[in-house]
Amino acid sequence: SWEENLPELVECINFAAIKHKNQRRLDKEQTPYINHPIGVAYILTNEGKVTNPNVIKAALLHDTVEDTDTTFEEISQYFGNEIKNIVVEVTDDKHLPKLERKKLQVKQIEHAVHCSFEAKLVKLADKLYNLRDLDKQIPTGWSENRVKEYFIWAERVVKGLRGTNIYIEEELDKLFFKHGVLK
Ligand code: NDP
Ligand code: ZN
Repeated sequence: SWEENLPELVECINFAAIKHKNQRRLDKEQTPYINHPIGVAYILTNEGKVTNPNVIKAALLHDTVEDTDTTFEEISQYFGNEIKNIVVEVTDDKHLPKLERKKLQVKQIEHAVHCSFEAKLVKLADKLYNLRDLDKQIPTGWSENRVKEYFIWAERVVKGLRGTNIYIEEELDKLFFKHGVLK
């Protein structure tokens, strides 16, 4: 029940806030990074009507290993293996050299389809949040072309995630149509 899950949910928010405390988003206002994982969790609960507590917890933690010194061991110690496994599925290795990362982005397209239902939900909400940001403004240091490439790439990843949450997929489609990557 949600009552049983409430302390651990707040623990996830607190853990992520501490881990991301020195990090900022790439927008002009340098929004605190924690707005992003909280916003992804919000998309899932309040827009996608997702009620699985593990999905919401994983969403709150989804960028801690990718973007901070957090390890998967830490995640499983504090939050257990189920949540750790979802976080593993949604984590990209940002420490790889440029060419390796390019290959990994291609892999993300191919592997999306094989993700668990829980990981697909987090990935969909993550993409929706980031694409809404990109729809509002171009991040510092990005060209218009890079934004365009990101939309093209995101649409391909989302292809493999479809059939998971109608509302979130429709919101993504609105942005894909608007930016001309779906017709
Ligand atoms: P990038 O490293 O290019 O950065 C995108 C990530 O930045 C987002 O997924 C998001 O990740 C984070 N982010 C932080 N602030 C913002 C913001 N305000 N708006 C949007 N995103 C924000 O992503 P990838 O390396 O995964 O590359 C994805 C695709 O982008 C590639 O396939 C390629 O097409 C394109 N690309 C183009 C480049 C170019 O110079 N032309 C260079 C690199 C990529 P998070 O959810 O983790 O916060
Ligand atoms: Zn993210």
